Amino acid sequence: MSAAPATALPPGSSHEALLVLNAGSSSLKFSVYQVGAPEGPDAKRKLKLLVSGVLEELGHAARFHVKDSQGQMLDELAWPEPAPAPGPGPLGHSGAIDFLTQWLREHNGGGMRLIGVGHRVVHGGVRYANPVLLGPEVLGELQALSPLAPLHQPHNLLPIRLIEQRLPGLPQVACFDTAFHRSAPEVSQAFALPAKLSQKGLRRYGFHGLSYEYIARALPSFDAHAAAGKTVVMHLGNGASMCALQAGRSIASSMGFTAVDGLMMGTRCGNLDPGLVLYLMDELKMDARAIERLLYKESGLLGVSGISSDMRVLSESAEPRAQEAIDLFVYRITRELGSLAAALGGLDALVFTAGIGEHSAKIREAVCKQAAWLGVELDSVANESGGPLISRLGSRCAAWVIPTNEELMIASHTLDLLQQPQEFE
Ligand code: ADP
Repeated sequence: MSAAPATALPPGSSHEALLVLNAGSSSLKFSVYQVGAPEGPDAKRKLKLLVSGVLEELGHAARFHVKDSQGQMLDELAWPEPAPAPGPGPLGHSGAIDFLTQWLREHNGGGMRLIGVGHRVVHGGVRYANPVLLGPEVLGELQALSPLAPLHQPHNLLPIRLIEQRLPGLPQVACFDTAFHRSAPEVSQAFALPAKLSQKGLRRYGFHGLSYEYIARALPSFDAHAAAGKTVVMHLGNGASMCALQAGRSIASSMGFTAVDGLMMGTRCGNLDPGLVLYLMDELKMDARAIERLLYKESGLLGVSGISSDMRVLSESAEPRAQEAIDLFVYRITRELGSLAAALGGLDALVFTAGIGEHSAKIREAVCKQAAWLGVELDSVANESGGPLISRLGSRCAAWVIPTNEELMIASHTLDLLQQPQEFE
């Protein structure tokens, strides 16, 4: 463990703070924001990042690190490989929440008061088009949505219960990856399935909504014309999707019923002929779990290249299969771009965001070249230096690199809900 400063959180203050949690199957990402700012007319609404970090490998030998707002490492810790039963088991989510709340207490030198927790929750179903203050009833409804996102929803909800047990009465807010897409026209959310199945919730939901919402809010300060017009945002991370924004509202997305649809991703296959799944069942005798593993964990960049799910590794590899995977990744983006531009009826701007979108000039260049027919003229020098504007002046369609910030979006929603008069359950 590194020598941690006694007070990682600012001393000598009595600030209010928000905790943001993003829990996955084996990790817990967290950020702490200070509420309010020393000056300015909207001081109450300002949020300042204090620390962010992650607890990962929660089912094995867990690791923890935390950085300040400048990315400077403040503390890190690694747990030993868990002993075989009946010895102490892995840290798990429960141990991670205990550790984190204790760490925050120990490193809070100045009376920082936690006023709420915002959670990233993948699925809000048809009902939740906005973030919601959590109580037993809402939590029950969100639990009932677990079959729609079995690999994510239960992990997202677990910390909510754990926090309620450890810090009873602390307000908690759920922010959904699906919510931003509820503004899309019905036709773009529908599958061509019998109506009785649509009524049971079998529809296109779309995901990465917190990222798209952040970009939609940030876009006016980069490109007022595009923000009022037609933009396609590409969230290219380990998970990848694209969203068509019409005047800042989602009107279509590449992801559908689940987060495996649409683009090729790190380990997910993206868009697939449903007949292929039937073939896997009938001819290759694969059951649902084996197919799930194949589509979610063994496909995408990893499956096609046979090398890695990490775009950095593939970009540096001389193996032909690495290039094949990159080519398919770009091709699938190109096809989705055509589809989303058609849904918008034109295009004013492209926005690249998330790990690959923000950092890979090579992928941006390949995508922009394929988008020349939409009026994109790449400025190669600006692209190599990371933008934000990477299209030439006078390009009919602009291209931007805008870093996303889902955590800030969650903190902002959480603060909004806490400051609204609410009826608590
Ligand atoms: P997550 O969906 O897990 O939040 P990120 O948004 O962090 O993912 O994106 C992870 C992806 O970004 C990985 O494929 C990684 O290789 C890629 N990436 C990060 N930095 C670079 C870089 N400099 N060049 C190319 N790809 C990068």
